[in-house]
Amino acid sequence: MTWKDRLGRIARGQRGHVAGAAPDSSGLTCQELVELVTDYLEGALSLEDRHRFEAHLDGCGGCRAYLEQMRGTVLAIGGVAGVALDPAMSQRLMASFRDWRSRRDV
Ligand SMILES: [Zn+2]
Repeated sequence: MTWKDRLGRIARGQRGHVAGAAPDSSGLTCQELVELVTDYLEGALSLEDRHRFEAHLDGCGGCRAYLEQMRGTVLAIGGVAGVALDPAMSQRLMASFRDWRSRRDV
């Protein structure tokens, strides 16, 4: 499993703020943004998708916070160089996501 698969799996577990969210003017839902975030950080989105992604961020503080969290995670694990997460790192990431989420939920 690549780091990106793992990150995607983690990301898909982090939909706390997206429940029931409708698409905004960008046409992108919070859920779709979550799906795209690793591609965004990799620079793999098409120009059109990137614009939609950023348009959504403009109007959604929850997704901005989410993106910053994911960006920090990607930097922490060595960027997009294809570095595989070891289990210990994966545990730490999961713990940090839980912390982040519990802070948001307060
Ligand atoms: Zn959003």
